[in-house]
Amino acid sequence: MQTQPHLPGLARKTVNFPSLRAANVARQQEWDPSNVVDFSWRCNELAGEAGEVCNILKKLHREKHGLPGSRAVKDDLAEELADVVICVDLVAMTAGIDPVGEHVTPQATYSELTDAGNGLAARVGMVSALLFPNNGQIDRPILAERLRLVVQTVSTIARMQDIDMPTAIAMKFNSTSHRVGLSTTLRYTDD
Ligand SMILES: [Mg+2]
Repeated sequence: MQTQPHLPGLARKTVNFPSLRAANVARQQEWDPSNVVDFSWRCNELAGEAGEVCNILKKLHREKHGLPGSRAVKDDLAEELADVVICVDLVAMTAGIDPVGEHVTPQATYSELTDAGNGLAARVGMVSALLFPNNGQIDRPILAERLRLVVQTVSTIARMQDIDMPTAIAMKFNSTSHRVGLSTTLRYTDD
């Protein structure tokens, strides 16, 4: 984990994207050694995970207002936010760009959880939009910028719900590896 000492009073745990990339590269080689998975597949995967976040936010919002329906808890949200960050790096990896990091906007917030979900969906949609029309070309600088905005939105939602993203990402990465029988893991800290 890293902190940001250049932001006095705002130091917080941040995701170590180079470590996440190293784990994603290793797991890709283990899981898909023929590189069947392409950029379109990865963008679809990211959109799917963002949808899972939106579904959890809907359930949390519903409970907040006392409406009937199935429930979710903060750990469910942490898992799905982690999936989004992991997939952001997989999109970047597949496009051949460096780990994207995030824009740091400590003051950003949303008034409602559903607004946060829509914010995430909008930004993930801007990533998928780069596929059309693509002519086989990916505008990598624009892709990196849009992926950073996705991570920024995830960080905002995590802060609103007091979720420790580095821990959530490591837990989810490792549980996914375990579930599908892969040996690649992501360390919890850089200590
Ligand atoms: Mg998921």
